[in-house]
Amino acid sequence: MTTHFINNQRVPGSSGESIAVLDPSDGQVFAQLARGNATDIATAIRAARTAADGGAWSRLAPVERGRLLRKLSDAILANHDELATLEMRDCGKPVKQAKADATACARYFEYYAGACDKLHGETIPYTPGFAVMTVYEPHGVTGHIIPWNYPMQIFGRSVGGALAAGNACVVKPAEDACLSLLRIAELAAECGFPDGALNIVTGYGHEAGQALADAFGIDHISFTGSARVGTIIAQSAAKRHVPVTLELGGKSPQIVFADANLDEALPVIVNAIIQNAGQTCSAGSRLLIEASAYERVLSLLASRIAALKVGPAAMDLDVGPLIRQTQLDRVNGFLSDAKSANLRFIAQGSIAPESPAAGFYTKPTLIADVPTKAALAQDEVFGPVLAAMPFKDEADAIALANATEYGLVAGVWTENGGRGLRMARAVKAGQVFINNYGAGGGVELPFGGVKSSGYGREKGFEALYGFSVMKTVVIRHG
Ligand code: NAD
Repeated sequence: MTTHFINNQRVPGSSGESIAVLDPSDGQVFAQLARGNATDIATAIRAARTAADGGAWSRLAPVERGRLLRKLSDAILANHDELATLEMRDCGKPVKQAKADATACARYFEYYAGACDKLHGETIPYTPGFAVMTVYEPHGVTGHIIPWNYPMQIFGRSVGGALAAGNACVVKPAEDACLSLLRIAELAAECGFPDGALNIVTGYGHEAGQALADAFGIDHISFTGSARVGTIIAQSAAKRHVPVTLELGGKSPQIVFADANLDEALPVIVNAIIQNAGQTCSAGSRLLIEASAYERVLSLLASRIAALKVGPAAMDLDVGPLIRQTQLDRVNGFLSDAKSANLRFIAQGSIAPESPAAGFYTKPTLIADVPTKAALAQDEVFGPVLAAMPFKDEADAIALANATEYGLVAGVWTENGGRGLRMARAVKAGQVFINNYGAGGGVELPFGGVKSSGYGREKGFEALYGFSVMKTVVIRHG
């Protein structure tokens, strides 16, 4: 059984209980995780508190923190293949995706390493005889609740930013996929991170996760996951007035005008829905196409979708398995509802015959004429299912793009520069891409949602403001 990682040590779970971890490629158990609880969370918070409140971590100069983060980035790259293999097994990610995630994780630590000593405040002109300055200080102890879809990437962006700002971290990864993060915590200890700076407790969301959200001794919570659990976290944190960053789900539109360069657009549109088997918060899962180009775009996409191959992670095909049976049931439920509603199935990919029967495979699917109010146009499927619908003109495109509860990312495809900019301003989303789309990409780019996609920003330098508190210091010098 794995252990927690607290105070730079492997710490067995206090309950002795475990959680079976399945390989999504074959549905078989391949590891046992420690099933953390409130006692384990309390132990981790004590370690982090000591680190944050006068411990060696809190005494480091920002440049020294930066050097440690840089060492960790290098260590992640040095152990890249091992980490990618863990993530491949844990999440069912095709090899290329798992490797890309390990590289991105290292890149987050590299980026935030360079940012540690650049977070500075201002002086403010005030009444004569006074000097006023603002300083950024860490919150203290930050809690991080991580989902299973991109464990390494989301750990890098959330914990990387929090450590750079000087916080000590307690991390609760998802019960389905923890192994890469436990290994990275060990690497951090080997790099010389002081005790208690980075602590990981594994376990279920409703046990260890809820204990972290409810705990006294946590000064900020960064939650990445579903909108449903985001509400629970925000309610828990509100009882103690603890600030929260919520990185939640999406139903992001790809908006294709008739003048779009389709040679460039189509491969990106396909990738935006199949990346990580569609289990990406910023997946481009709605395809809005100008009516005059609707059938042409659908038929060009049909051949691309039909050519997609699904199979075990190690085969490194276009699409791997979904994370678990309940996720497969969810995706299949959307597909059978769409069939019952007589929606138009344009194309489906195929599952490689070598795929183990007990793995969690579904075919990438393009469905057309999806009504705006249909579940397929409103709800996050979290699978490789692309819902297409036509629009009349720019105003109609904006109305459709904004017609869900989510607002995470949007893509606009047009050769008309003015229209691209008008759309970027009118669409309610945290990121808008014009003639490109970055599902999950861009360490430097502030990321986060509006509406039910959450609030607060991670990634980029902007994240450091969220992971710190501004203090105003007023000096009367006469
Ligand atoms: P989830 O909300 O079920 O779980 C996310 C994390 O929260 C896991 O670690 C889980 O153990 C924990 N958790 C569950 N219940 C909890 C509780 N009561 N208290 C505390 N913690 C709890 O989400 P998921 O199914 O793991 O992930 C998929 C969702 O995450 C999708 O909606 C996806 O869009 C979203 N997501 C968002 C982003 C983003 O950056 N906006 C990135 C990745 C995933």
